[in-house]
Order: sequence, then C-alpha cells, then structure tokens
Amino acid sequence: MKITSIRTRLTLWNICVMALILLLLSVALRYSIQSYLMSAADHELVHRAHRTAGFAARNSKEFVEDFRKMAQIQRDMGHSAHFKRQPLRFSRAFNRAGQQTDPFGAILKTNEKPWDRKLFIQSLVGKTGFSTIKVDDELTRVYSQPLLRNGEISGVVQAAYPLTELMRFLGGFTVVLAVFFPFALLTAGLGGMFLTTRWLRPVREITHTAEEISARDLSRRLGISGDDEFAQLALTFNRMLERLQKAFQQLEQSVEQQKRFTADASHELRTPLTTIKANTSLALRQARSAEDYKEALAAADGAADVMDHLIRDLLLLARSDDGQLVTELEAVPVSDVLREAVTLVGWKDGRAEIRVEMENESLSVTGNAHHLTRLVMNLLDNALRHTPSDGLITLSAAANNGAIVLCVADNGEGIALEHLVHLGERFYRVDKCRDRKHGGTGLGLAICRSIAEAHHGSISIESTIGQGTVVTVTLPEPLKECVM
Ligand code: ATP
Ligand code: MG
Repeated sequence: MKITSIRTRLTLWNICVMALILLLLSVALRYSIQSYLMSAADHELVHRAHRTAGFAARNSKEFVEDFRKMAQIQRDMGHSAHFKRQPLRFSRAFNRAGQQTDPFGAILKTNEKPWDRKLFIQSLVGKTGFSTIKVDDELTRVYSQPLLRNGEISGVVQAAYPLTELMRFLGGFTVVLAVFFPFALLTAGLGGMFLTTRWLRPVREITHTAEEISARDLSRRLGISGDDEFAQLALTFNRMLERLQKAFQQLEQSVEQQKRFTADASHELRTPLTTIKANTSLALRQARSAEDYKEALAAADGAADVMDHLIRDLLLLARSDDGQLVTELEAVPVSDVLREAVTLVGWKDGRAEIRVEMENESLSVTGNAHHLTRLVMNLLDNALRHTPSDGLITLSAAANNGAIVLCVADNGEGIALEHLVHLGERFYRVDKCRDRKHGGTGLGLAICRSIAEAHHGSISIESTIGQGTVVTVTLPEPLKECVM
C-alpha cells in the first residue's frame, strides 16, 4: 500500500526512528548494566580468592577455632539454611589432587570438589580464569587461580558467585523496558501526529484556497501568521496570485481590446464597402448615361481608396504589434522629416497657417524616415482638421537633454479632458458622428504612438478646450537600438 499522506508518513517515520532509538538504547543499557554487575561480581570473586589463599597459607589454629564458634552461634540462631548456602559464596582451596584444604572445609565438614574442573586444571599450570557454569542447577560465576606456597603451585583456589539474583534483576529490568517500549512508541506516535497535524495546517489552508481559486476569482489571499517557512510559502503563494491576477486582468483587457478592435475594423471596412456596393448595384440595375457611370465609378474608387488607406493603417499597426515596424535604421535629418510631412499633408489655401521652427538645421535622429514622416504628418493632419482657417499651427524641433523634441502646437478647438486619456487608443474618436471625410478612423494617434515607441520614444498630448492642442514627441538622440 502506498502511503500518500505526509502526516501519516511523518508519524510512521517518527515511530520507526523512535523504535530504533529505544531498541538500541535498551540493548545498550541492559548490556552495560549486565557487564557492570558481572565485573563487580568478578572483582568480588578475585578478592575472595585472594583472601582464601591467605587463610590457606596461614591455616592458623586460632582462626579455625574462632570460625567454628561463629558457625555454631549462627546455627543456634537458626541461620543454618543461610549458613549452608553461604559456603557457595565463599572460595575454596584445593590441593593438587582436588581435595578441599582450606580451614572452612574442616570447620563445615565439607569436602567439596572444585566447581569448575577445567579451570582447576588450567590453574594447576599457573593460569587464572573465569567461567560461567551451572552448579546445582544454579548459574554460577567461577574464578580460579593457582595457590602458591614457597614459589610452587601447591594447589588451586576457586571462588564462586551464584548469578540467580543478578539474572533476576536483569530479567526485571528487561520486563520494565518491554512495558515502557510500546508506551513510549504510542506517545511518540500520538505526539508526532498531533504536531504534524498542527504544522501542516498552513499546507491544508493553501490547498483549500488553491481549490477555491479560479481564473474568474483570483482575489483570494492566504492569511499569514509568524515568519516560519510556511509563512514564507504563504507569502510566495500570495505574490504568485498577485502576479496571476495582474496577468489575467491584462489578458482580459487585451482580449477586450482585441474584440473591440476587430469589431471597429469590420465596421470601418464595411462603410466604404457599402458605398462601393451601392454604387455598382445602382449602376448595373439599368442602363445609365456615361456621366452616371463615371459618377458611380468615381464614388466606388473613392471608397476603395478609403479601404486601401484603412487596410494600410491596420497592417502598419499589426507590424508594430509584432515589433516589426522599424526594421531598417538610418540617420534621418529632422529638417527633411518636417518638410516632407508638410508637403504630404497637402496644405491648401484657406487652411490654417503652418509654421516650421527648427532650433538647429543639423538635428537628426536614428530611425526610419518614412515612419517618422508619417508620424509628423498624422499630427499635422489632426491639427489642420481641428484648427480654423485663421489659426496657426507651429511645427518645431529642438534638442533637449540628449533627446529630440518634436512639437505640433495649434490654437484650434482643443480636446476635452475626458477624451485626452483615451487618445492613442485604436479607433478612438472624439466626435464619433463624423465620417471619414470630415473626421477619420481614429487610428492616426495610435499609429503615431506605435511609431514613437518603435523608436524608443514617447508621445504626450496637452490640450485646452478653445485654446488649442500641443502634441510633443520625444525621440532619444542618438538612438542606440531600435526595435528590429
Ligand atoms: P485618422 O487620423 O485615423 O484619420 P482621427 O484623426 O479621427 O482619424 P486620431 O488622429 O487618432 O484619429 O485622433 C483621434 C481624435 O482626437 C480625433 O477624432 C480628434 O477629435 C482628436 N484630435 C486629435 N488631434 C487633435 C487636435 N490637434 N485638436 C483637436 N482634436 C484633436
Ligand atoms: Mg488623425
């Protein structure tokens, strides 16, 4: 079974680690206690063996007498069982034949054999050693050492220590550990589960919020408390939502703009197309005079020109959107741009005066002459359309802080504030009732902005109703890079 929940995994991991640590700790503790007790017993055994060796060497009569009396008193006091058992704890001295020779043997009238025969034989050749054997079905620790008299091995001393109590103690200790073990694991498991549940709460919140978030509602945010890793995660998540929300808003805006653009473009194209269709249909319905045909064809031709103009503008904007507007760079004299624009705008008598003011004839920008001329021409065209015949349009160019500033100022009708913010939007016209002849399609300023931006420049418009309009185009000079 695959465990997917982090909480379960962490809890299981916690229990496993805890079990391993407890197991190692228990084993280490049990064996260190055992080895401590065993070494204490061994120490005691060696001590007793040395003492017995001393007694065996002295074999003094007074000592034997004293011991006999002491044994008698103990027996009288009813400690016989204890006393009977005690000799096992004592050590014994044996001669080389394996007969008990120590004074206790004589006193207690015992004639025990060595507890461990193997150790006895080893000690006869001078070796000391320990063993753990069964004596009368009781696990016993035995120590054996040679008994020296006058530098010769005259026998062997053995000391014995029954391990029953020690083993009982270790058994009890093991039971305590065995009871403690599952309890400790249960505590670790429950504690781990409680903590992971608490710690993972922010993750659950993030999941919950993420589930509730849809492209339509990206305004939800996570609550942030503390400054731990989860708070950082929540903060990052919120920032990501912020960016997503902005991106979606921009996307929605651009989709909306695109829709409006398509609808406006279709509408603008339909108008001249309707003119063409109406004129050709009317001409074809019945025989007409040459004059009527000429008139119909002229109307259709004019409408076709409008369509051509419009399609060119749309293509220019599409290329600008693709970043393909300015592909060839050249040093363009500003004076040429201004003069060409004035020529192309088709100034006629009876229109407002156009005055050109050049700060310096040698001013130049790096860019595309054709598009720059188109930019100035659009601005002049607007100014001419919205300035009375006795008005004045000033076209000026100057260098300012490393930039070339082109300015088209008129003293015409001006633009209301509510329209100013929308100027430059595609198909935006102040007076929507005007037709192409009197107004335009509303693409002129959008094209100007695209051209300025393609040259890494900007465009700004200031206007006051009844006083006039000033359009300022700022182009960097010299241009290091342009959109290619
Ligand atoms: P197009 O330039 O595509 O033939 P258009 O002139 O209507 O059409 P824009 O050049 O983008 O479109 O201008 C948008 C609107 O801004 C115009 O409808 C016009 O009302 C207003 N406008 C632009 N320049 C001036 C100006 N100098 N004075 C007054 N109004 C202006
Ligand atoms: Mg225009």
